[in-house]
Amino acid sequence: MDPLLPLAYKPLPLGAVRPLGWLERQLRLQADGLSGHLDEVWADVRDSRWFGGDREGWERAPYWLDGVIPLAYVLDDPALKARVDRYVNYVLDHQDEDGWLGPRAMVQAGGRPEETNYDLWGQLLALKALAQYHDATGQERVLDAIERNLRCLERIIDRKPLFNWGQFRWYEGLVGLYWLNERRPAPWQGDLAIKLQAQGFHWGEFFRRWPLTGPTPRGRWNFMGHVVNNAMAVKAHALWWRLSGEPTDRAAVYDMIEKLERYHGMVTGMFTGDECLAGRNPTQGTELCAVVEYAYSLETLLSVFGDPAFADRLEKVVFNALPATFSPDMWAHQYDQQVNQVQCSRQLDPPWNTNGPESNLFGLEPNYGCCTANLSQGWPKFAANLWMRSPDGGLAAMAYAPSQMWAELDGKPVHVRLESEYPFRSELDICVTVEKPVRFPLHLRIPAWAKGATLAVEGQRQPALKPGSFFRLEREWQGETRLLLTLPMRPELLRGHHKSVAVARGPLVYALRIGEEWRQVNGDRPEHELPHGDWEVYPTTPWNYGLRISEKTLAEDVVFENRPLGDLPFTPEGAPLEARVYGRRLPGWSLRNGSAEETPASPVQSSEPLEPLTLIPYGCTNLRVTEFPVLI
Ligand SMILES: [Zn+2]
Repeated sequence: MDPLLPLAYKPLPLGAVRPLGWLERQLRLQADGLSGHLDEVWADVRDSRWFGGDREGWERAPYWLDGVIPLAYVLDDPALKARVDRYVNYVLDHQDEDGWLGPRAMVQAGGRPEETNYDLWGQLLALKALAQYHDATGQERVLDAIERNLRCLERIIDRKPLFNWGQFRWYEGLVGLYWLNERRPAPWQGDLAIKLQAQGFHWGEFFRRWPLTGPTPRGRWNFMGHVVNNAMAVKAHALWWRLSGEPTDRAAVYDMIEKLERYHGMVTGMFTGDECLAGRNPTQGTELCAVVEYAYSLETLLSVFGDPAFADRLEKVVFNALPATFSPDMWAHQYDQQVNQVQCSRQLDPPWNTNGPESNLFGLEPNYGCCTANLSQGWPKFAANLWMRSPDGGLAAMAYAPSQMWAELDGKPVHVRLESEYPFRSELDICVTVEKPVRFPLHLRIPAWAKGATLAVEGQRQPALKPGSFFRLEREWQGETRLLLTLPMRPELLRGHHKSVAVARGPLVYALRIGEEWRQVNGDRPEHELPHGDWEVYPTTPWNYGLRISEKTLAEDVVFENRPLGDLPFTPEGAPLEARVYGRRLPGWSLRNGSAEETPASPVQSSEPLEPLTLIPYGCTNLRVTEFPVLI
């Protein structure tokens, strides 16, 4: 294989970055919730054919491993690590002579008949999970297994070309293949890369010639507009660019993100798809798989190209869309979340273009179980990618959350500890500790929104920091060095559907706090006993408000107040921040089929009384209005 173009920033081995503070508590909540117990409570993982059972034998178990492996290792949780070991060892012990991993029969979920032709997506996904396991454990047999599997795939696709999911997700194979190439390069690896690319769907060309500029028509499910495929595919041309070096590949990444944003973008940094791209109406849904895959794609893009704008978007997705779509205890999740989500209930005629009537319930496997299996990767991979190695021999803070990391630079151990209540606060305390003096640069990302950001090193104010760039601090580090980075957050108005507005500040988007009543449903279904039941959520307070707000008077129109950061920051009661705004009810704006009706076009008039309203971070809400009409 031709040499790969180097990564702009290189991820650290799994386990080198560990969460602290609220992020550690969030990951612990995940491990104590559905994600960490899926192999006990859900037959499609517990009795998966991957682990010797008789249930689904394609993507579900590998999806779970792809998230639970990093979860176990970023938390350094011995019990979870022991369980992961057992499953991975089972898979490795049962690898076929020719290198095939897992079951060969394409047995799908929900009693669907066996497919005669195996869709290779299941193998590409398993490779990603195993590569992480090797990063964390260094076990040689994992490397052997990955090599044998890729050699097997290289032969198979000569006679059985990629189709369906494998065809639309071909570049996911490059993740495992490049990983192997960096450890055991061989000429056949280039053949496989070229065959995958040639047989795969050409996303860049498709977006250039025929972008999907409107909502998918009702009932027209398709692979090209599939929201998860799109969230994954934004990294396709970055991965391929490492081999091609073509400027058109780099440009295709930006073109895809820009068009998804323009035609389907939500104020959370995500785009809609329920299950295919669904336009900019805030009552359309976004599938959870798309949220975690977009985050992973952005982490990959950040590493390949080093553009801090990818991290700005990554934080927005992870701090807003990701926590919002889980119940507070992380035992239940939604298939589809809505930016304006005023009720979660079973509907005969839901607004989704193809998803089923239960898609916005919080539950075990609302609508379909892909998200149940795939949700685990969101928080752990974010934690693992907070810090990376910089190309000039230093370290880089890529995204911010309380964390610590260990690395060796110039043969000397370095420890960095970041303590902060970011993104709920602006101050980040960074402590760099070295045992022996060592010179290296530290790159600190300054988000594009952080105008007036400051950095003090041991109390010494540094030169002005440029938003939307990395600040490079090179020095000889000795003993313990304290840095204080301040990222000022100013309110801004984001424009939405029908000229509506949403309030944002720093990486957080704000939404109306709505009173909630949770009602358990589907309790008679198998596997739905508590705590992993299904829930409808009904509003107990009004939500149909227009806001008195404008860009000119924004600083007076919205007033922020800090609240204590507790154990459950991503809940309505635990919100670490509140914003006070004023608005009037809009009596004509009501509920239809369980969702808010079409947002009235702004500006709007209302003779209802002016009321104080409380907005909280989007990620803290379960019900919400985020995009509001604006009062005259
Ligand atoms: Zn899904």
